Parts: sequence; structure tokens; C-alpha cells
Amino acid sequence: MQKEYDLIIAGAGPIGMACAIEAERKQLNYLIIEKGALVNSLYNYPLYMTFFSTAERLEIGGIPFTNITSKPGRQEALEYYRRIHEYFKLKVNFYEEVLDIDSNEEFKNVKTNKSTYQTKNVIIATGFYDIPIYLNVPGENLAKVSHYFKEAHPYTGQKVVVVGANNSSVDAALECWRKGADVTMVIRKGEIHDRVKYWVKPDIENRIAEGSIKAYFHSSVKSIQEKFVTVSTPDGELEIANDFVLALTGYRPDFEFLQKCGIEISNDGLCIPNYNPETMETNVKGIYLAGVVCGGMETHKWFIENSRVHAEVILGDISAKCKS
Ligand SMILES: Cc1cc2nc3c(=O)[nH]c(=O)nc-3n(C[C@H](O)[C@H](O)[C@H](O)COP(=O)(O)OP(=O)(O)OC[C@H]3O[C@@H](n4cnc5c(N)ncnc54)[C@H](O)[C@@H]3O)c2cc1C
Repeated sequence: MQKEYDLIIAGAGPIGMACAIEAERKQLNYLIIEKGALVNSLYNYPLYMTFFSTAERLEIGGIPFTNITSKPGRQEALEYYRRIHEYFKLKVNFYEEVLDIDSNEEFKNVKTNKSTYQTKNVIIATGFYDIPIYLNVPGENLAKVSHYFKEAHPYTGQKVVVVGANNSSVDAALECWRKGADVTMVIRKGEIHDRVKYWVKPDIENRIAEGSIKAYFHSSVKSIQEKFVTVSTPDGELEIANDFVLALTGYRPDFEFLQKCGIEISNDGLCIPNYNPETMETNVKGIYLAGVVCGGMETHKWFIENSRVHAEVILGDISAKCKS
């Protein structure tokens, strides 16, 4: 007979892991299903990124995150979360994707690309980093266009257009310029975003002011060709000679997946999923949301620091129900 779980958690990001630790502490029978590697989003972050949070604010399960510098980088964070996985012996099925959740009053069937699991509760902690917000312009599918930035080395001596003016774009533009790329930023608004880290913002603004990095404000990419990019600027359309485009215009949660599971999404453009902030339970009984997926298009609203508390809130609600 198929095993029945108290809880299935979709996603082994920091918040899915925090939920699993709470489930372990409450002696619930749980399983995490993760479509990639452990903390797959962090694994895919730029190789030399530094977190804006200090180490203790990225801690989960009350386990200290010790780091020589105050703000850890990707490698240190991966090391920390690997140790958490090992220490708590978290039960995770890696490289398995949750495709759908079928609900009825009694239990849920969690369907993956490998199997179907029966469970009383589900936590969706699937983040937002897997789906880029596309420019939707001709040529976006060319091999020279990327929506993720790994490292600057391939761009040395190359003409790079960086689209966007938020943290990812600014970090990529500065790193590429410092590694010898010829960088042009294309920015829809009139300035660098005010959410850019306060210690990085003057750096990019000064590089633009001195002309080291070119920037077109109030501008957008119209189309991308093999050898150039067409940009609409306040002074008309320009053709900019180009080798690579880094279109770092953000990412979004998988709304289609949430809707398939029966979760309502607001239709005000923000696409906020319907959940009770007191318990994190969605409009579908027994399905909870945790971590950044809660924010809809407001992907800046939740991060590790402020969403790790979701674990205790949700597991408090689930264990109270299990006892009653
Ligand atoms: C460059 C960068 C720097 C950041 N710096 C900071 C910082 O300094 N401090 C901070 O607090 N936050 C920071 N953040 C935000 C932070 O990384 C996220 O808030 C955090 O990863 C959220 O954790 P999560 O567990 O909710 O989601 P994620 O970490 O995105 O984890 C979701 C997991 O779900 C998996 N998944 C997705 N869909 C499925 C599916 N259908 N089935 C199974 N598995 C699935 C994914 O593979 C992934 O492993 C940063 C983000 C970026 C992009």
C-alpha cells in the first residue's frame, strides 16, 4: 500500500528546508520534493555574489551560520545549507518535479514527474527564480542573450548590453566592466533603482557619470540581432554594436502551477496568491505557501531573512490540526 504523509514540501530552498526542520521537530512524517539540487536557486546565483544579509539572518533551524566576513557569499551559503541538510538528515527527493496537486477533503495527491504521493498537507515553497520575465522582443531567443548572469570572464573584450537597473543588472554591469567588457546599460526608467544596495548604488552612478559604463535611461530594447541591438531612446532609435545581452529584468513565481493546484491569484497585475497571513494556508484547505512564492510579482517583498518565520507559523497550524 502507498505510504501516506502528514506533509509534502515542494522545494528544497532555504524556506522549504526550514519547514522540514520544524516538521522533524514536531515528529511529522514529511518529504521534500525538489526539482533540482539542494537550494537550487542559490546554486544558480552569480558565482561571486555576496548576500546583502549578514550571516545570522540567513540561519534556519536555530543553527549558527558562522562566517569570517559579515556578509556571506554564494559558496559559504551553499556550505551552510549543505551542513543543515546533513545535520537534520532532511528527507529530500532530489531531481523530482511537483507537477500538480489534486485535492479532496481527506487528502491530497501530489503528482510529480516520477510518482504520485498521498499526503494530508502540502507546503509550496517553490520560490521565483526559475522563470525569467522576458523582454518579449524579436531576437530574444538568440544564443548571445541570457536571463541569468554567472560570471564576467566570458565577456572580457566583448560588447555587452545589460538590460535593467536593479541589483542583478547593476552587479553584472559593474563586474563585467571591471573584467574588461565594454558595457552599455538599457534602463526603462530615469534612474538606477532605489532598491539597489546602498553601498553599490554610488559605484554604478559614478561609473555612469564618468562614462566608464554607458547608460541609456528612459529607453528599452526593441530587437536583438546577431551583431547589434536596436534600442528605443528619448532621442530616437539607435543601433548599438553588440556581442552579448544580459537581460536581467527579474523573475516570477510559477503562477500556472499555483492555479493548477486551485490557488487563486489576484488579478490586479501583482498576482498575489490567496493565503491567510495568520497561518499561510491558501484558499485550498491543507495547501500552504512559504517563502518568496507568497509575494506574487512583488518578488522583493519576501526573502530569506523575513520569510524563514513562515516555517514555525505553518507547522504550528498543521500540528494543531493533526492533534485535534
Ligand atoms: C542574487 C540574489 C541575492 C539575494 N540575496 C539575498 C540576501 O542577501 N538575503 C536574503 O534574505 N535574501 C536574498 N535573496 C533572496 C533569496 O535568495 C530568496 O528569497 C530565497 O532563495 C527564498 O527562498 P525560498 O526557499 O522561498 O525559494 P528558493 O530559494 O527559490 O527555493 C525554491 C526551490 O523550489 C524548487 N522548485 C521550484 N519549483 C518546483 C517544483 N515544481 N517541484 C519541486 N521543486 C521546485 C527550486 O528548484 C528551488 O530549489 C537574494 C536573491 C538573489 C536572486
